[in-house]
Amino acid sequence: MTSRSFLRLVLAGAVASGAVVLAAVPAGAASPGKAKAPLTVPVRLLALNDFHGNLEPPTGSSGRMVDENGNTVDAGGAAYIATHMKALTDKNTIAVAQGDLIGASPLLSAAYHDEPSVEFLGKLGLKVAAVGNHEFDEGYTELRRIMKGGCHPVDGCSPAGKWKGATFDYVGANVLFKNPNERTDALASLGAQQAQAKKLMADWGVPALPPVSVKWVNGVPIGFIGLVTQTTPNIVTAEGIKNLKFIDEVKAANVASKILKLVGVKAQVVLMHEGDQVNAGQSPDACSAVAGAGARIATQVDPEIDVVLSGHSHQAYLCKIKDPAGNDRLYSQGGSFGRVITQVDLKVNLKNLDIDRSSVVADNHVVTRTVDPDSDINTFVQTWRDRVAPVANKTIGSITAELSNTATPSGESPLGDVIADAQLAATRTGGNAQIALMNPGGVRTLLSYPSSPAGEGDGVVTYGEAFAVQPFNNLMQVVTLTGAQLKTVLEQQFTGGPNNQPFTKILQPSANFTYTYSTGAPWGSKVSDMKIDGVPVTDAQTIRVAANNFLVGGGDAFAAFTQGTDLWSGPLDIDAFVAYLGTNSPIAPPATNRITVTS
Ligand SMILES: [Zn+2]
Repeated sequence: MTSRSFLRLVLAGAVASGAVVLAAVPAGAASPGKAKAPLTVPVRLLALNDFHGNLEPPTGSSGRMVDENGNTVDAGGAAYIATHMKALTDKNTIAVAQGDLIGASPLLSAAYHDEPSVEFLGKLGLKVAAVGNHEFDEGYTELRRIMKGGCHPVDGCSPAGKWKGATFDYVGANVLFKNPNERTDALASLGAQQAQAKKLMADWGVPALPPVSVKWVNGVPIGFIGLVTQTTPNIVTAEGIKNLKFIDEVKAANVASKILKLVGVKAQVVLMHEGDQVNAGQSPDACSAVAGAGARIATQVDPEIDVVLSGHSHQAYLCKIKDPAGNDRLYSQGGSFGRVITQVDLKVNLKNLDIDRSSVVADNHVVTRTVDPDSDINTFVQTWRDRVAPVANKTIGSITAELSNTATPSGESPLGDVIADAQLAATRTGGNAQIALMNPGGVRTLLSYPSSPAGEGDGVVTYGEAFAVQPFNNLMQVVTLTGAQLKTVLEQQFTGGPNNQPFTKILQPSANFTYTYSTGAPWGSKVSDMKIDGVPVTDAQTIRVAANNFLVGGGDAFAAFTQGTDLWSGPLDIDAFVAYLGTNSPIAPPATNRITVTS
């Protein structure tokens, strides 16, 4: 919508719905003696979250879902999503999403900076999406390119030609520029109300993204507020978001809600990339979510907000929570990887243009593969499969047995250890690295044996399989840490501490680095007996430590990494892994004995 027409449309819509009321209820139409029900119009929301570029049906546990009957079924895949969406879509429908639609994607999408996935979501009819943390994986500038169009500054245009930009709106109300003088067009869609909206936002910053989007359905405006987890700076690469701040979600949502009210939009839906955990194996329609960061926001945001659709935790749930005014409010999520579509049916009162809370009904639909896949989307995905096939199917090495990414009791995994070894090998020359440390969350999947879906049992590893393990295109870097700083990095692995590490995250060490940690010792004194090539590490000595740029930037709450000096940047992590597989194949699973655990 052009900026100028916005308010006019809002007002015109209100008038038009008034006209509908008059037209639909001619004098005397209501039966005498019966109370007149308030006139409402139906609206249906269909929501996706955490798609992560899964155009092809995801495999393994990522492609299975527990359904309403407690059965585990195959789920997901773009062509199946399209079939289910078509079946669920009626004339009252708006398709929406809650972020992480792109980033950490399979090669098919990632090789083209996720343009194929964003195009698919447009074909699906998506109208508005919150940004997730992974939308920032390649930085804010790249996100703007995905939104607006243009070819990639380094890799150029994809085989499909010049990127036209997303056909849906990305929104993120709590993403602000650090610099208050930054120019922004994020409020452009508010037209005549821009100045007032700016005033509302003045005391907290300049929006880096449109905070809200208004979509019309059935003659009524629905306002969508985008939110992304305020922990985003801890989980994405610092360089790409260095000009941004991610503020408290509740505070941002409440200002965005006021902006919507300012332009007459009272039917308000939060699309939030933050969520909670559920009990394993539960129905996608059950709640019993462990109340965490998502529930905090869902319960605390302004009572004017009617529905909170969430994401980020990759769980499926439908919860009814109380808003600050004591009214019921839907709080839901639809799993991940396109395995679940959340359907929300609601009614908007034509008199006050607000959502009738008692009318809200939600249902999580599992995207089963027992339906016919949509043929147009099938063709679309096949086109990209053909384009990427020469890259994906190239053999790069082999393994003698499965390399698992599941943590052993020490916190190491065989594949994590191999990746650390690969990273050290790639950074010794040039970066003078002495050890390498790899974040476990960055080892995205295992290398199975037989390693190809065809199952020939030869342990062949293709580029596509290696990429699935290391999909972030992080840079390998090396910094100098003192022995004392390295110890602090390792202390920061454990939950708690000054950085408030949310989970224990044991970094995967290269083979030549060993140490001991005590599970029972207090935070700050857990780590001891650090050795490099068998030689004890002293507090004062300096060590060249290799890690990806996410960790070196302080990612995953490893703040001590940012004290590193003499930064050197080397190859991409995927290139380091591919090179190592090429030189050292066949690779056998290493013993995970680099870390010793005591009580
Ligand atoms: Zn996320």
